[in-house]
Amino acid sequence: MLAGYAVQVERSRGRRFPEPPHPYRNDFQRDRDRVIHARAFRRLEAKTQVFTRRYSDHFRNRLTHTIEVAQISRTIAAQLGLNVDLAETLALVHDIGHPPFGHAGEKALDAAMRGQGLSFDHNLHALRIVEDFEQRYAAFRGLNLTFEVREGIIKHSRDYDAAKHPELAEYLLDRRPPLEAQLIDLTDEIAYNTADLDDGYEAHLLSLEKIRAGVPVCEPLYREVERLYPDAPEKLRFNETLKRVLNRLVSDLITNTLARIDRSAIRTLDDVRNYPERVAAFSSEVEAERKQTKQFLYQNFYYNPALAGEKDDAERIISQLFTFWMENPASLPSNYREKAEEERLPRVICDYIAGMTDHFISEQYEKYCRPA
Ligand code: MG
Repeated sequence: MLAGYAVQVERSRGRRFPEPPHPYRNDFQRDRDRVIHARAFRRLEAKTQVFTRRYSDHFRNRLTHTIEVAQISRTIAAQLGLNVDLAETLALVHDIGHPPFGHAGEKALDAAMRGQGLSFDHNLHALRIVEDFEQRYAAFRGLNLTFEVREGIIKHSRDYDAAKHPELAEYLLDRRPPLEAQLIDLTDEIAYNTADLDDGYEAHLLSLEKIRAGVPVCEPLYREVERLYPDAPEKLRFNETLKRVLNRLVSDLITNTLARIDRSAIRTLDDVRNYPERVAAFSSEVEAERKQTKQFLYQNFYYNPALAGEKDDAERIISQLFTFWMENPASLPSNYREKAEEERLPRVICDYIAGMTDHFISEQYEKYCRPA
């Protein structure tokens, strides 16, 4: 049973190109399946989340991170009475616009574009992927996703100024996104904050002592684990702690969002859309813990000197390849050369680079930029 404020698939604003209904999958289930079958989705497997593959094969990549976000989103959406199919679809598609080499890659690509008076934004890029770049159907370009999925791609993590983005006018920029989309930004954070502590610990870049001292949410939960399992190996005590952190964040998001829905007398999807702020939120106590955890990860993990070399490589590879193709557009593949006749060259190069896996862009760098 869906809550009154959930998105009902029967009331979807529909697709750009109307399609006959499927006999046993609803429109959001079909959108989820279209995302899973997209090339850009498969490429997530070979894109860095935090660690490149050089470090180890068992750390998260963008695909396994995406699957974790989908798992957490389904759990929370079900508890809130939301549309689980829509929440899952938005989770699966949420990182599809990310370039290779994680955040370092994103920064480098944006910097290259700013040098041309443009910019790179992964949500806008994700929309271009599902609207245009994916070509699987004879009747239309792109995946022809429902309005609610496209809206969620744009609005799940940030607000866009309608004056600066006239091309996004159809996405109701002056109104809040549905709760299914609001969730995704928070489940994304739950997933990567806990996963990055896990991978950082596994990689021996973060010690248990450091985490206990620097991440306040961990200490009381660690003590509880120590009482329950005094003889367990450190690794398992850490896992048990992290499991409790994850549960605490998820439970708090469910409880606090339900309380906010209740307090704000939100009953319909229009109430969600018209409310002056986003309704999905942690309690102030857990929000403070979330911020402390994130700050800890920035100070001790994302900017860890052990990862600096990979970041420098990412920046060099992206900026040099971008410059190379700006100066040598004839070296672009033919479909991108054709695109450059209709669109500005930097945007075409940016689209090309953003779609690459870590592996493919490294090959391109060897081919075009490696000094002989
Ligand atoms: Mg993410």
